[in-house]
Amino acid sequence: MSAEFIFPPPPCPSVAIAQDARRFPVRRIFCIALNYAAHAREMGKEPAKDASAEPPFFFTKPADAIVESGATIPYPTLTHDLHHEIELVAALGRGGADISAARALDCIFGYAAGIDLTRRDLQTAARSSGRPWDMSKGFDHSAPIGAIRPVAAMGHHPTRGRISLSVNGVLRQAGDLSDLIWSVPQIIAALSRNVALAPGDLIFTGTPSGVGPLLPGDLVEGEVEHVGSVAVSIEK
Ligand code: MN
Repeated sequence: MSAEFIFPPPPCPSVAIAQDARRFPVRRIFCIALNYAAHAREMGKEPAKDASAEPPFFFTKPADAIVESGATIPYPTLTHDLHHEIELVAALGRGGADISAARALDCIFGYAAGIDLTRRDLQTAARSSGRPWDMSKGFDHSAPIGAIRPVAAMGHHPTRGRISLSVNGVLRQAGDLSDLIWSVPQIIAALSRNVALAPGDLIFTGTPSGVGPLLPGDLVEGEVEHVGSVAVSIEK
C-alpha cells in the first residue's frame, strides 16, 4: 500500500549527466572546508599540514539548493557579500558507512564542477560568535553545478588539473586539484565515519584561493579541467 500524502511530495532535485538524457537524483549535499592551503590562508586560517594532521571539517547544503548550470539566480537576501567558491564535486553512485580510503573510489559515479556560493558576511559573523554556518552556506540557490561526467567516461578520477573561475570574463580563482589537502578518497573515508553515505550524495571538495564578491548582473563561469564547467548569472 503506498502512502497518501497530504500534499504532493517535493520534486527530487537532480543534476544533468554529460552525454546522457537521464538525471542524477540528489540525496544530500556535503561540503568540506579549507581544503586548499592558499584558500585557508586567505580566510585567516592556518591550513592543516597534511591530511593526517587533523580530520576535515564538513558542512551541508539542502539538496534543493541545486541550481542547473546556465541559470540566472537572484542575489540572495540578508547579505552584502555574496562570494564564489569554485569546487570539484564528487557524485556518489554507491554509499556506506566507515568506507576505507582504498575502497572510496568505488562509490563515485562521476564528477562535476560546482560553485559553493557563500554569504561571507554571515559566515564571518557566525564564526566569530561560535554559531553554525547553515544560513551562510545552505541558502536558496547556493549550489550551482554543471553536468556530471561519469567515471565510466573519464577512465580515472582527477587528481590533478586546473580548477578556475572567472567573473564577467576576468579570472578570479585558479588552482590545481593536486593541491587538495584531503584527497577525494580521504574525504569520503572521513565523511563516512560521520554519517552513512548513499547513492545521490554530492560532495563539494573545497575551493582554491581567490574567492571574492559577486554583484547583481555578474556572469560567473567555473571550470575543472578534465571534468566540466558551470556557469550562473546573478539577476540585475
Ligand atoms: Mn567551499
